[in-house]
Amino acid sequence: MKVALVNNHTAESIKLAEEFLSKIKAKGIQLDDENPNLVVTIGGDGTLLSAFHKYQHLLSTVRFVGVHTGHLGFYTDWRDYEIDDLIESLEHDRGESVSYPLLDIRIDYRDSDQSDRLIALNEAVLKKVDGTMVCEVFVKDELFETFRGDGLCVATPTGSTGISKSLGGAVIHPRTEAIQLTEMASVNNRVYRTLSSPMIIAKDEWIVVKPIEEHGLIVTVDHLTFRDKHIEKLVYRVANEKVHFARYRHMHFWNRVENAFIGIANKR
Ligand code: NAP
Repeated sequence: MKVALVNNHTAESIKLAEEFLSKIKAKGIQLDDENPNLVVTIGGDGTLLSAFHKYQHLLSTVRFVGVHTGHLGFYTDWRDYEIDDLIESLEHDRGESVSYPLLDIRIDYRDSDQSDRLIALNEAVLKKVDGTMVCEVFVKDELFETFRGDGLCVATPTGSTGISKSLGGAVIHPRTEAIQLTEMASVNNRVYRTLSSPMIIAKDEWIVVKPIEEHGLIVTVDHLTFRDKHIEKLVYRVANEKVHFARYRHMHFWNRVENAFIGIANKR
């Protein structure tokens, strides 16, 4: 096993990262930042997103495992006080893993024949900061609607508990191979009409979004932001790649959702 560590820069995460490194060195576990097959993150779900993008070129061979220094997260199965249990699991690792779908994004540009291909663990958002974004939305290659509003979000199942949920999207079990389109403040009146509800797209379908006007558009992919691109269209589909997490113990997805969003106090 070759382990890489990614941590955020809170004092708590730095301290825990130092402790983790010294303990795994003492156990003789190999560290390899360049070509790991296990990436351990210490921080929050945001830290795991950063690690995912850092090592996305190794997706087929790498597994991720997250330690949360705050509350339990969606990508982070371990708490800071469980670091010794995690190291013991690493010592007895038998390659246990669970795999989840990702979002494939292709961006075509107006001024070039080249396209960019990006992968999201949570979601991609196309939005306009100044004024209304107008774009045509196609399902497969058929025009579905003309959207007017602040933006559009396309999320993975594991991303469905992120910003997608705040936009009214459904929480999707991560074994579901699909992507979800949600609207950001669509204009709906007697003249303009959008579906106004989230759409869940199957693995063999794709969504194409063609902005009518290119100025002022922003694309975000997870925590990353891309500006000033002359976008012709974006094509979203379920990626062929998957993300693999080391699963040394099982936590039921719906327990995690309940824990994050409901809590005991709100069940009375
Ligand atoms: P950020 O400040 O790093 O993250 C915002 C919050 O979203 C943090 O509390 C983060 O958890 C949590 N989060 C990240 N992925 C999640 C997931 N799959 N399910 C549930 N919660 C999740 O924000 P950022 O750097 O701009 O964007 C990173 C991600 O945060 C985005 O991909 C987006 O999904 C999410 N986000 C959510 C909202 C919202 O709900 N309104 C707004 C902005 C961003 P940790 O504290 O554990 O890192």
